[in-house]
Amino acid sequence: MKIVRTRSQSDDISYGGVEPEGIRLYRGSPFVAWEPTEAVIPFDEARLLSPTIPTKVVAIGRNYAAHATEHEVEVPDEPIMFIKPSTSVIGPAAAIRIPPHSQRVEHEAELAIVIGRVARNVAVEEAASYVLGYTVGQDVTARDLQRRDGQWTRGKGFDTFCPLGPAIETEFDPKEGQRITCRVNDEMRQEGVLTDMVFGPAELIAFISGVMTLLPGDVILTGTPEGVGPLNDGDLLETEIEGLGLLRNPVST
Ligand code: MG
Repeated sequence: MKIVRTRSQSDDISYGGVEPEGIRLYRGSPFVAWEPTEAVIPFDEARLLSPTIPTKVVAIGRNYAAHATEHEVEVPDEPIMFIKPSTSVIGPAAAIRIPPHSQRVEHEAELAIVIGRVARNVAVEEAASYVLGYTVGQDVTARDLQRRDGQWTRGKGFDTFCPLGPAIETEFDPKEGQRITCRVNDEMRQEGVLTDMVFGPAELIAFISGVMTLLPGDVILTGTPEGVGPLNDGDLLETEIEGLGLLRNPVST
């Protein structure tokens, strides 16, 4: 199933399920309890929002060997984690804003895991049962500030620096090695396959949930393949994962 969150023309926000003829609206939320309604809205009337409202986004650095190499750093022995604030999350078609503080904002295309239930000290073998599904994500980064600050809160944490969507796919197995790509104004910037991740989703859920409790709706960004590059005012950023769809965000100041 593909789960979306939409804003109607009368500004009502609800979760929905993608069906052949449109988006069926649901009462409630997939993270607690929900049920389908009779309402189905046509795709062209749906304004999609981020498909989840996480309490936190836990992101992983250097999780593709080739990306670590392009930054001349070692592939780590255990996952390097950091947090992007929930206020950095935006949905499909929403603008990424280049802050005046940075001269170098970059894209990082990433697979996003959406947690479905409370996860604490989860074993690797049990990790899949804590996943609601997967979506496409971006770990937008002010590279100059990330380097200058010596830690990553500011460089990774600006409002709009975490586009997510368009949908949460519940039937998705990244072990199949789907392609992840990132284009800027039709120029291919990043291309990778999900099986090139150093630490896979199950290992990441086990590792992170041993440190902090993951709550329903929380997101894990799983790291980016090589090819990160600059974003500038007026660009169109397109991030795509086979089987998960296309996340499109304009860039502006
Ligand atoms: Mg990243």
